[in-house]
Amino acid sequence: MVGACRGRVGRWLASKEADAKERIASSFVKLKRDFFMPPTLETVHREEVLASLAYITLARIDSKLFSKGLLGRELFEKLDTSGDGYIDFEEMCAGIESMDLDLDHSTIRSLFNSIDGGDGFVSIEELHAALDITYEFMGVKGSPWKMYVSPAHQILVFHNVVEDRVVFEHDMTDKLLREIVKANILAEKEFAERDLILETKRQDLVERYQHYAARSLQFFYWKWTALRDMRIERWKMEQHTLSAARKDDKKYALMWQSAWRVRQAKKACWFTVQLHYQKMVDVSEDGKMYYFNHLTGDRTWTKPKIFFMFLKWRGYNTDLDEPHPWSIEYTPEGRQIWVDRIDGEVIEGSDDGFGTEIPPKKPPGYPICENCNLELAWRDCKQCDFSYCFQCFRISHNYVGAEKHTWTIVKPHQCELCTKSVAAKTAKGKKFCIGCFTRLEKSGVFRGRADKKTIEDL
Ligand SMILES: [Zn+2]
Ligand SMILES: [Zn+2]
Ligand SMILES: [Zn+2]
Repeated sequence: MVGACRGRVGRWLASKEADAKERIASSFVKLKRDFFMPPTLETVHREEVLASLAYITLARIDSKLFSKGLLGRELFEKLDTSGDGYIDFEEMCAGIESMDLDLDHSTIRSLFNSIDGGDGFVSIEELHAALDITYEFMGVKGSPWKMYVSPAHQILVFHNVVEDRVVFEHDMTDKLLREIVKANILAEKEFAERDLILETKRQDLVERYQHYAARSLQFFYWKWTALRDMRIERWKMEQHTLSAARKDDKKYALMWQSAWRVRQAKKACWFTVQLHYQKMVDVSEDGKMYYFNHLTGDRTWTKPKIFFMFLKWRGYNTDLDEPHPWSIEYTPEGRQIWVDRIDGEVIEGSDDGFGTEIPPKKPPGYPICENCNLELAWRDCKQCDFSYCFQCFRISHNYVGAEKHTWTIVKPHQCELCTKSVAAKTAKGKKFCIGCFTRLEKSGVFRGRADKKTIEDL
């Protein structure tokens, strides 16, 4: 690249020969005046710089760098090997030694000290400021020819750093000066060209960085979308397994539900059976019991078939409740009587003497149906809080929802003295069977008038 650049500069010089000649002439005059200018009060600073070992060293470094294809402003990057934005003394020593300039440590130290702001580090601004001073007073940017006051001889010299050729003030000729001018112009032009190239390169680098940043952003976007898609897919899968599990759950729930429904249906069915079937006593057949269906009027000695539906069903008695031993019967003459199917006892009605029949008293000890006041109470419904005979219970519980009603079989009152027989009388607030009552009455327990008033039939 450097070669191509030099070629271009050469061609530029050739193509604009007239221009170039004129420029060389004017530069020559300026350079000659600069070189032979005697020190004055106004140029004290210039003289200081020209005599400064540090600036001389920096100028030499600049020329050397340029001959190697590097620009002055690239010096900082070359020296800052750690890349932290500052050059320390060690970095500077190592960097300058690699340039093959034959400088001792004390020279490098004086260069370092004069550039740094006293903080022990050289920043890019400090280095560039120092470089600009050398460009102003010691020679054109990039030119191999540098002008300074030789520290050894205290004489102004022109030094070709690349060729290591020193021309003292008293040896200077116009021819040499012209040569220097030409080299300067070439160097200036080449410097500008290379600067442009460097700038383009940097721009390129910036673009590449931007491109890289864009690519990484794109990559992150892809990654993000991929992750998002993955998340969505995972969610779908989870939902799928969940729905499968739910399907199973539904199946089991359905099974339980149907089992429960079957149980409920059986319960309701059994309630209906108990509602319409009655175990009845055939008085003519020695009190043998038969099953009577109140809906159809069917009578069977054996259990109807429907009862076997509930045989294996635990928790429920699969037979009907036994009726009370007492039941209302009618004589062939049509008179109502109470018959005890177990011991054959009969309670008959009576005649009032005028042809009107008085119905028989109910068997003692048994409560009467609270609904019809005719039959003996048989079922005590818990939900209705009422005692019914079979027929009254059947009629009052023949609706949907009644299957939830539960009942207990009404037991006859027990004698509170012997606790064996059915009570028939109450006296002094206690219940007694006939045997116990007559014994107590004979022994004179209920002799008092007040006591006699409490005696009642049960
Ligand atoms: Zn009744
Ligand atoms: Zn009820
Ligand atoms: Zn008794």
